[in-house]
Amino acid sequence: MISHRSEGEPMAEGKVRCTRCILPDTYPNIDFDEKGVCRVCREFDEKYSSIDWKARERELESILNRYRGKGKKYDVLVPFSGGKDSSYTLWMMKNKYKMRCLAFNFDNGFLDENALAFVKKAARNLGVDLITYTPDRELLDRVYKRALEATGEFCAACVVLMPTAIFRAADTQGIRLIAAGFSDILESPPPETSYMDRVCFRDIMKPAFDLKELEWDFFFPSWKRMFGVKQINLPNYIPWDLPTIYETLNRELDFGKSMKDVRYDCLGTPHSSYLFRMRTGFGKYEYLYANMVRAGVITREEALKVVEEREPKEAPEGFDEFMAGLGCDRSILEGIEKKSVFNFKTRNRGFREFAHRIRRLLP
Ligand SMILES: [Zn+2]
Repeated sequence: MISHRSEGEPMAEGKVRCTRCILPDTYPNIDFDEKGVCRVCREFDEKYSSIDWKARERELESILNRYRGKGKKYDVLVPFSGGKDSSYTLWMMKNKYKMRCLAFNFDNGFLDENALAFVKKAARNLGVDLITYTPDRELLDRVYKRALEATGEFCAACVVLMPTAIFRAADTQGIRLIAAGFSDILESPPPETSYMDRVCFRDIMKPAFDLKELEWDFFFPSWKRMFGVKQINLPNYIPWDLPTIYETLNRELDFGKSMKDVRYDCLGTPHSSYLFRMRTGFGKYEYLYANMVRAGVITREEALKVVEEREPKEAPEGFDEFMAGLGCDRSILEGIEKKSVFNFKTRNRGFREFAHRIRRLLP
């Protein structure tokens, strides 16, 4: 319904934006209804407006009951970056749900030092064991470089590496449940621009690597072993109320942050955001803050302000140094709009849905 395009709200910078969230008319396949509300907002209402949180929490309790006290030493592995979502998940698992937790920190070498210091301190204060995995940086940089040259973004590497490391940690520790703080509503990237699975990753890396070299970090464990570990995301089971989350973390863990702080867990974020904008014509902050507005976490005005201040219109400070660190330079920007993960093979859709269904049915 392209004819509806002009019915969003024109902004000062000449962009038309959704009148409810802030998505711009440069977002893929967007259209606006007669009130100027975008397709993504309408889809959101259909999908999420009728969530019964009481029922969700009962479901969570019954899952946790099945795992509590069952592991050798730990009942649950909690991926722990030191950000608000994973910190709150760890706090809830330990203190509210009384699970025996192992915190798992994945350090890709781009983590903020303060976040790393917080991870150690918080684990100690909570009285949970912590393991950190730091893969060899030389290998990682080659993977980032190949991903960047082939697809116009380097984040693809971590999208495969992190879950692999998390599953492997659970598997080797004999833990059958993973509880993460990833929020589909707030953090999912647009399916029109972002996708990754191991088939796709293999196809991207094949020309540049002996795949044996990538096996441990990117292709372990096998599907069969992954079926033995259940993963849940806590924000899918309880309302993810940011004021409560910040209040709890500051009171209990000396978090030292407020909702006003815009902070990255990863120092690569400003650079990946800039590359994303160059590639897609809209910004990472635009879709992330549009998600937050839609979920009622912040107001539309606040979101517009953050986007105006933070969305990189030019290469961010330190961009050239960051690129040089990966063995690349600004020539990466030439033709970047034609690069995409969708130029590579992806997993067969039927198999993907089948695998998701089995994972959901895991006891
Ligand atoms: Zn919208």
